[in-house]
Amino acid sequence: MADEVAKAKAAKPGGDTIFGKILRREIPTPYIYEDDQCVAFKDINPTAPVHFLVIPRKPIMSLDNAEDEDEQLLGHLMLVAKKVAKEQGLENGYRVVLNNGEDGSQSVFHIHLHVMGGRQMNWPPG
Ligand code: AMP
Repeated sequence: MADEVAKAKAAKPGGDTIFGKILRREIPTPYIYEDDQCVAFKDINPTAPVHFLVIPRKPIMSLDNAEDEDEQLLGHLMLVAKKVAKEQGLENGYRVVLNNGEDGSQSVFHIHLHVMGGRQMNWPPG
């Protein structure tokens, strides 16, 4: 089993997460973007030459836990992903991924978008 899948299988939804610590600056992770609704930072274990995460400040555990009231926030994350992708030089395209739940290989239960690029992405993903 791939390492990331094993991590996802072991992850338990609920409570504080590593991303909560990053948002509270308890872990000194440099932001590549921030505003009043979200932040973006580089993935610690990149799977592409450019791999960053966009996370809301609001601690929504997963897409399954998002509510109708989060509609604007979720759209905002997508637009920030696009803006930061351009700033990171991904002029030739990129992939945006949202892993949801155990079978989706979600390992951190604070909703986030992965943005990956800088190489040809293959399809279908594993
Ligand atoms: P997921 O499996 O979709 O929940 O993705 C979680 C991602 O968070 C993985 O790609 C990890 O490499 C990444 N990650 C975990 N801890 C950190 C950290 N401290 N800083 C940056 N990225 C992290």
